[in-house]
Amino acid sequence: MKISFNSCSITNSCIYHKLNSLFRPAKSEADVFCRTPKFENLQFFKCKTIKEASDFAEKNFNILNFDVNNLPDANLMNSIMTKIFNITEGQAKYPPVVSLKRQKGSRFTGECGDIYISIIKNKKIADILIHEIGHYNHQLCSKNYFKMGKLSEIEADGITDLSIYDKFMNDRKSLKLIKKYICPYATSSPAEFVACTFEKIINGKQLPPEIYDLYSKYEGPFADIFKRNLSIKQV
Ligand SMILES: [Zn+2]
Repeated sequence: MKISFNSCSITNSCIYHKLNSLFRPAKSEADVFCRTPKFENLQFFKCKTIKEASDFAEKNFNILNFDVNNLPDANLMNSIMTKIFNITEGQAKYPPVVSLKRQKGSRFTGECGDIYISIIKNKKIADILIHEIGHYNHQLCSKNYFKMGKLSEIEADGITDLSIYDKFMNDRKSLKLIKKYICPYATSSPAEFVACTFEKIINGKQLPPEIYDLYSKYEGPFADIFKRNLSIKQV
């Protein structure tokens, strides 16, 4: 299954399904995200070569294939992943494959699968990378993740339980709030709401407590850390 940021179409592919079975994520947040009581902020530094940037990604984020062939982009991506790592107190996970491709004239897209994040470059690398890492971690921590896509995505995956999707789409009050504080696109499915909200939180946007409650309700990753940080800010 892969998710494209703009169209968010999901397609099945044999190879990814085979790989999925090898990397099948655990299904509870407690299983996946072990607590690190002695967490220390990771220091980002600008690497001087692609090889150095690739080593930084492997050492700190367990990214085995950091497929970025441009040094400024590699540094930008490492700085964003460091930021996410620090905000989530070292708990954010990254897939073994992260790639960035330049494609002239194409609109920006991002995709997230069980073992990879792929970005087609445009000007918004930072936001897209955060968004896809949001999807990736949501997928790892929520056993209901595959019930939270758009209707076409859920159906393409052969899932018949639409209860979570229906609840989200019928909650008009919350959808209004999401449209106002996150973006219209975030109203397209619970999974998009979580990824878009993750993006806003990592970017430091002030959000009302109701949004954090919805984020918890739809099993958004690191909801406890984000809520705690919110209450610290409000003191
Ligand atoms: Zn998305």
